[in-house]
Amino acid sequence: MKGKYSEIKVDKIIKKFRNIDGGWSWTKYIAGPYLGCSFGCAYCYNLENGEDDSVTIKHGAVDKFRRELKELPKDVITLGDYQPAEAGERLLRAMLKIVAENNFPLHIIEKSPLVVDDIDIIKQISQNSWAAISVSVTSSPDDPDTSAGLNLFEPGTATATDRFKIMSEMSKQKILTGAYCVPVIPFIGDSANTIEAVIKSTKEAGGKYFILGGLVIPEPFDQLFWKTLKDNFPKLESKVKELYDINNSAKYLSYLKNLEVLSTKLCDKYGLWTHIPRPINHYPKKLRPNKSIAEYFYLKSRFARSNGLSIKMEDAYLALAFLLDNLDYNICHDYQKQDFKALEDLGLTVELAKELEGQIRVRL
Ligand code: SF4
Repeated sequence: MKGKYSEIKVDKIIKKFRNIDGGWSWTKYIAGPYLGCSFGCAYCYNLENGEDDSVTIKHGAVDKFRRELKELPKDVITLGDYQPAEAGERLLRAMLKIVAENNFPLHIIEKSPLVVDDIDIIKQISQNSWAAISVSVTSSPDDPDTSAGLNLFEPGTATATDRFKIMSEMSKQKILTGAYCVPVIPFIGDSANTIEAVIKSTKEAGGKYFILGGLVIPEPFDQLFWKTLKDNFPKLESKVKELYDINNSAKYLSYLKNLEVLSTKLCDKYGLWTHIPRPINHYPKKLRPNKSIAEYFYLKSRFARSNGLSIKMEDAYLALAFLLDNLDYNICHDYQKQDFKALEDLGLTVELAKELEGQIRVRL
């Protein structure tokens, strides 16, 4: 037991993904000192403690983090999940210091204003390495009715006003920041007016990007969502169920595509990026062209649907991005030596190899 929180032993504190979260946050590693979450979001499928909202502290989190980070190749690490416990424990703060000492690029996705307490270290990381602070927010203070409705799904979290304050504070310190408008709750937070209000508030708070994502409610984590919806918006229950009918996934995919098209159009209008630019310079020099071309294909995959491309092409672009990211040689140099054969050897279709060739050529 540490203070009023119990502790739990964990083998590892840093989770390493096989592939990065390409086109989104570019995360390769994720870590946090707390297990569980006290915010009780109705759509959460990420509660390691199961359905309850208790929080425990991972035993020896900071020391483990220091040891494990030293062994890893440099890539983007996501920290966050500022629990109320952090105000007293300051474990995330200690972990951020370790990120700074080791010059890792940092991504934080956060709803809690507590993150602003660590702005000094985040600024240091931003100046010496790279940092992007994504504020998780799905409504605008200019749209109070929608905010109040959406808040029913996130009862323990900060208001939209307080979340945009996080963004303003970060941008005042010239730290890259923007909105993660995820998850968009169907028929409550998805109108063009609501999305535009969030984008406008992002721009006004100095955010540089706006990222939109749909609601995912996999069983068995969906009970609380359906209960919250039924209790507060009973008339919407059947509409949302129809949208998420697993026997008609085309309906949801088309819904998501329309949201993406809308979001891209509005980002253009307000001069925001629809993605976070990838921090290429943190990779070994010889691999940077691969990482940069992979970025291009990750984004092609992410926006395939809204650009009218098939799921097959979406998957093909993603597979190509993963492949490029995992090469241990410079694909541009190989192409210079072997010409098109270097690309055929990757096992790509001729179409895809030609597209890759185009991207290599603009970088030579
Ligand atoms: S903030 Fe909400 S969505 Fe995130 S882990 Fe906590 S309960 Fe889940």
